[in-house]
Amino acid sequence: MSTIDNLPPLRDVIATHELAAKKSLGQNFLLDLNLTAKIARLAGDLTGADVLEIGPGPGGLTRGLLAEGARRVLAIEKDPRCMPALAEIADAYPGRLKTINGDALDVNPLEHLTAPIKIAANLPYNVGTELLVRWLTPPEWPPFWESLTLMFQREVAQRIVAEPGSKAYGRLALLAQWRTDPRIVLELPPEAFSPPPKVNSAVVHLTALPTPRFPADPGVLNKVVAAAFNQRRKMLRSALKSVSPDIEDHLNAVGIKPTERAEQVGLEAFCALARSLENNPA
Ligand code: SAM
Repeated sequence: MSTIDNLPPLRDVIATHELAAKKSLGQNFLLDLNLTAKIARLAGDLTGADVLEIGPGPGGLTRGLLAEGARRVLAIEKDPRCMPALAEIADAYPGRLKTINGDALDVNPLEHLTAPIKIAANLPYNVGTELLVRWLTPPEWPPFWESLTLMFQREVAQRIVAEPGSKAYGRLALLAQWRTDPRIVLELPPEAFSPPPKVNSAVVHLTALPTPRFPADPGVLNKVVAAAFNQRRKMLRSALKSVSPDIEDHLNAVGIKPTERAEQVGLEAFCALARSLENNPA
């Protein structure tokens, strides 16, 4: 039996269900249940909250979330091999764990959860950034979730919390800092996982702000910053040409020099540019 519940240790679960890690699914499993309980606590007070977990795998973090008092957990896992292991956890926590065997990109979690909702996950590297951008760019704000507690490669985590002017500053920093307060709350070495990945990892906690720091349409802002940082060495008037033929006028109108590069421009100015583009389309 484990330290946090009456279920078997994760090593035994993996052996029993023959869950040899698949690289194609980004499988690096956390085996230490004290660590997964700690990550669950980093998500804040879970009592009275529903939690969405993406990629539960053999269920280490799922067990942490349930042991830390989550009202209900919805766990979406692509690998069918993991479902019997997850069913054992559901049996141990009657009525509190719903599992879906599917791709997180295709499931609408709101059909299964009620507010307040928190999201917590050790994300698969192949869909982690896409999911984060989706959660940050819904048309309406506040979003359906209160906070995100997400494990990423450390380099991605650093890009989310990066300061303007730094090398890591880019689309992720802008979108995250526009509508949330992101902080790195835990760093983990490769040995914390099985199999160990080649890189360090970090947990980022993002709390949704009640309103975005500056007004802007999420679709337009996302398009502008994606184009600007895709060609980050270029002057903005060339990097953003694809966004609008009148880009130079828009840049001038909001006080950004067309010869500047993306990393020299702050969040407030990018939001002003997005508003100018939205209000005066070409
Ligand atoms: N949460 C477990 C843990 O911490 O030990 C496993 C984390 S592992 C890094 C990522 C998990 O996401 C794997 O179980 C993998 O099968 C699953 N996964 C990969 N792509 C997915 C997708 N598109 N939708 C849902 N789950 C996915």
